[in-house]
Amino acid sequence: MARRKKIYEGKAKILYEGPEPGTFVQYFKDDATAFNAEKHDVIEGKGVLNNRLSEFFMVGLTAIGVPTHFIKRLNMREQLIRQVEIIPLEVVVRNVAAGSISKRLGIEEGTPMPRPIVEFYYKDDALGDPLVSEEHIIAFGWATQQDLDDMVALALRVNDFMSGVMLAVDIKLVDFKIEIGRIWEGDFMRLVVADEISPDSCRLWDMKTGQKLDKDVFRRDLGSLTDAYTEVARRLGVLPTNVTHATKPTLIN
Ligand code: UDP
Repeated sequence: MARRKKIYEGKAKILYEGPEPGTFVQYFKDDATAFNAEKHDVIEGKGVLNNRLSEFFMVGLTAIGVPTHFIKRLNMREQLIRQVEIIPLEVVVRNVAAGSISKRLGIEEGTPMPRPIVEFYYKDDALGDPLVSEEHIIAFGWATQQDLDDMVALALRVNDFMSGVMLAVDIKLVDFKIEIGRIWEGDFMRLVVADEISPDSCRLWDMKTGQKLDKDVFRRDLGSLTDAYTEVARRLGVLPTNVTHATKPTLIN
């Protein structure tokens, strides 16, 4: 079989040309990075978990009418997605203070926000993804005012959905990041949720114990990242059934 054409390789995923025009195959790697890739490790099984979890969230979003790039999962590490034009912004929604907002504004981690706060970061690794305002976004042409209004509405719908799904399994959705893309249908353009939604891009705290079940486990060396992600997957009922830790083949009579 001919090798697939690689379109783009990022820190945690690879995009390949899809089977039909307008599609890509998104491959989830086991690589974990933090602090703008200063910290890097390969964590066996992370890609499989994120592929399943992202599928679960994207399918749920589609079911409630939030458009996404997701078409279907192909195998343990790959999913078929629609090709979109990524808007060069990371959209962060915060329900509880943690991470950069705590540092920047001196708000103690764990402080509830008076209302969900939507922030935009300009996607540029060399600059360390700086926080930008709507003024910058419009002035520099990264998105229009209409796009921004739509992006905020989309991000808040994702927040409501994700908060509810997590609440049902005793997990607090502290914050998350999404990326948004444009899809053109003739002359019409619409915005869809793209990239991935997984514990790599969310902060998830156990409601009872406060235990962190997200990438902060890696960022802050708090234990096993796969154990944390597996716990999220187990609670949501999306644990991959064909991943086992058995090392020896078993004889079946
Ligand atoms: N986030 C992400 N990718 C990034 C930056 C942030 O997925 O490049 C997520 C992060 O996991 C958290 C949320 O966005 O759930 C807010 O991150 P924050 O601004 O607090 O930055 P951090 O503390 O991760 O540097």
